[in-house]
Amino acid sequence: MPTASGTGDESFAKSLFVGSPAEGLIFPYPEPTRAEVDEINGVLDGIRRFAPRNVDAARIDREENIPLEVLAAMRELGLFGLLVPKAHGGSGLGLTAYARVVQELAAHDGSLAMAVSAHQSLGLAALLYFGTEELKAKYLPRCARGESLAAFALVEVGAGSDAGSIQTRADRDGDSYVIDGEKIWVTNGGVADLFTVFARTSPAEDGAKPRLTAFVVERGAGVTSGPEEPTLGLRGASTTSLTLSSVRVPATQVLGDVGRGFKVAMEVLTSARLALASSCVGASKRLVRLAVERATERKTFGRTIAEFPLVKDKLATMSAEIFALESMTYLTTGLVDAGRTDFSVESAICKVFGSETLWRVANESAQIAGALGYTRRGPWERMIRDARAAMVFEGTNEILRCFIALSGMQGPGLTLSGSGLLEDVSKAMREPIKGFGLLSDLAFRKARSVLMRDRLTRVHPTLAREAAIVITYAQHLARSVDQALRRHGKNIAEMQYTQKRAADIAIDLYAISSCLARTTRAIEKRGEEGARREIDLLTVFARAAEKRLQENVVTFDDNDDELRKAVAHKACADGGYPLDIL
Ligand SMILES: Cc1cc2nc3c(=O)[nH]c(=O)nc-3n(C[C@H](O)[C@H](O)[C@H](O)COP(=O)(O)OP(=O)(O)OC[C@H]3O[C@@H](n4cnc5c(N)ncnc54)[C@H](O)[C@@H]3O)c2cc1C
Repeated sequence: MPTASGTGDESFAKSLFVGSPAEGLIFPYPEPTRAEVDEINGVLDGIRRFAPRNVDAARIDREENIPLEVLAAMRELGLFGLLVPKAHGGSGLGLTAYARVVQELAAHDGSLAMAVSAHQSLGLAALLYFGTEELKAKYLPRCARGESLAAFALVEVGAGSDAGSIQTRADRDGDSYVIDGEKIWVTNGGVADLFTVFARTSPAEDGAKPRLTAFVVERGAGVTSGPEEPTLGLRGASTTSLTLSSVRVPATQVLGDVGRGFKVAMEVLTSARLALASSCVGASKRLVRLAVERATERKTFGRTIAEFPLVKDKLATMSAEIFALESMTYLTTGLVDAGRTDFSVESAICKVFGSETLWRVANESAQIAGALGYTRRGPWERMIRDARAAMVFEGTNEILRCFIALSGMQGPGLTLSGSGLLEDVSKAMREPIKGFGLLSDLAFRKARSVLMRDRLTRVHPTLAREAAIVITYAQHLARSVDQALRRHGKNIAEMQYTQKRAADIAIDLYAISSCLARTTRAIEKRGEEGARREIDLLTVFARAAEKRLQENVVTFDDNDDELRKAVAHKACADGGYPLDIL
């Protein structure tokens, strides 16, 4: 859908990689309409009335399931149909509203958020985005009511990060496909009766080697679940393997095109990562609340521990990081709701930053609780266990850092019309590996100087220092990536240290930029004093981020990457750490 500031397929995060932050894409910071706010508050009020008295997260964790009465109340509140269009019996919420509800659930209990988002963001998403009207009419109403739960079955024993290695087969037989295979780690696996399953369709189907195809499969067609996995956390949510043995599904159950299942999986995961980021916001806010409660009650040396600077420092860092996470998450969902179609890098950034923020916040909150944070009497140990999963599922943070960097290096996708020179640059940047060498050094530098911005014009002047960080380091990023591409060409695909630095710079720049857009909006609405909280949080975050940015820029050239590889190589050869003081 075209938007006010472009065609919809432009990406702010990608624009950072050419040193030219496309500020028009993120200013003004998106805001839900009054009607949307009322709708969101309606759902949140229901959760707030029910959850404090009826959701016992410790019991859910101990008994490793969500009590029936809680599930019934969740159905009653419409939590299983948030993303389902009204025409099919759901609430038809946009992504911002949905993510905000998931955030609320995560603040009460991670397993509830997991069950709801695995059902909608993962299990139903392919049906919502790629299903035919017949399939939607057939399945969505009962899924919206929560009578049927859905799950997403992609990963297999030999295909985790490397989803391209899937072995499950779907062989065409007349008007049907017959699916055989084994899936693992399926959230809602033991309780769902509708599955999005990814399988290889036989070569005869598309004339090429077997490619992935997505199917919607009913449990009754012959899907059996393995035992519940003994997971570290999120124990109330069901996680099992699935066996598909000669499961026959009509050819009409294909989601999207035959052979295009990889694209379906990636689109589902791209959206799902935003709900995952919002659940990290919810859990992180809860952890800060717990930390503040403890810090303002617990006394040592005759004072509450909240009075000591090193405890204050933790609360300040946690608050600033959550502000950045919340700002980037709802900036991105707002962009999607406004019709942006290229948000895969932004959503990967939100997922990586969200899961790692939650992990740091959980650790620091538990530290403030002292020994209590280490016992099962408080919520910290459960919340630390729950938090661990987010760095692994929906793409591990390592794989996503590589994805952020390599996608960013493929260029911003901006429409650079006008001079032929700019079009050449655009082409070169869209396909940096293929297009590399297209321009002479001189032309490249000249073009870059045209592209690079010297300041962000939409940021409130009070925030000029933080805005300058974005410009300075976006230009560093562009130069460093340019040099790396020139030096390494196609080998950049193997250079994970370089990719990690580029990704980490992009993550910090997207975080600061999101805060800048949000804080500018706050100042415009409430004046500087009214927006003091936002300004302070942005300042704290940006100063810490600036140090990381400096470090990442310097180590592009001056690093010990090769030494580290050699040390790791020796650790593998030695079977671990070989030294001893004896
Ligand atoms: C609680 C939970 C729920 C889940 N729910 C679902 C679900 O509903 N549906 C589903 O299909 N799957 C689900 N998963 C599976 C999840 O998506 C996978 O665990 C994840 O993709 C990683 O795969 P893996 O576990 O095989 O790890 P591996 O791929 O074996 O990776 C192990 C480690 O090696 C690193 N690594 C691997 N390859 C590379 C590389 N090329 N470069 C650098 N580092 C690399 C990884 O980052 C990771 O640190 C779930 C997992 C968990 C823990």
